[in-house]
Amino acid sequence: MASFAQKYLIGAGTLLFSFVNFVACGSQLYQVSVRDDLDVSRVRQANPQYNDPESTLYGIHASSGWGSLPISFKLGTDMDYNQKQELLAAMQKWEWATGKSLFEFQGTHSDTKGDSFKDLFSSLGDEVNGHYIDADWNKTSKPTYVLATTIWNNTNSYSQIATADIRFNSQHYVIGDSLLVESEADKQVVDMQSLAIHELGHLLGLAHVDEEIDPVSVMNPSLFIGEGLTSRKLSRSDIVRIQTIYGCEGDACDIDALIEQQEHAEAGELSLTAKQWLDYGEKTPISH
Ligand SMILES: [Zn+2]
Repeated sequence: MASFAQKYLIGAGTLLFSFVNFVACGSQLYQVSVRDDLDVSRVRQANPQYNDPESTLYGIHASSGWGSLPISFKLGTDMDYNQKQELLAAMQKWEWATGKSLFEFQGTHSDTKGDSFKDLFSSLGDEVNGHYIDADWNKTSKPTYVLATTIWNNTNSYSQIATADIRFNSQHYVIGDSLLVESEADKQVVDMQSLAIHELGHLLGLAHVDEEIDPVSVMNPSLFIGEGLTSRKLSRSDIVRIQTIYGCEGDACDIDALIEQQEHAEAGELSLTAKQWLDYGEKTPISH
């Protein structure tokens, strides 16, 4: 199995009050400073402390999270079964870290896929929180090396998220379970679950975390890609940060126990609910 390790750029965009605002991310590979590359003006309006490592709000862009939970979502018609499985596993990871039901499946987004939208931000124009695979990534106006991007609308408070979409770059990468899928001539494998954990972190209100602050955070602005390479474990600081926004329930409130559990866990089994979502989405194309 070819193992090709590189850290690649992960993009994050935000749309506030219908004002298009692109937040780019840095990467080690391209030696781009996250601070210099980030449009800090709007993130700072939401949370002035997001970039202060001494603050408990470091690495958080929307400290109020979503107004109500769970967050309903739909999947684009272009997402294959394996990608759906890995996306749901990523959602479960954040639910495990909070002990809360954060997400609720609303079916396949009828007749709609990433390429149905004319550009990146037009997918935010509907009331659907969608996850899409973009075969035509050029249309997003993002650089080719950006793996995926999360875009969102805030409510009338900059610290609260109203709607969000995630777009995955399948024009330039093979996106799926990196333990199963293989690279193609000009496309490297990117682990769907690892990438989705990061993008869902943005969707839930997390910003980037510098490698110098926490080298194993899933919110580092870069990701190792290649066959067999994964980054699916939340760091302690990731768990603390998500609980800063959403609190915790039950067993999730014991962070030491969570870390211990994660160290010894086998590859995660999807919950019964997630399995039902997966089968529902696959077997029953619905429109609403
Ligand atoms: Zn990012």
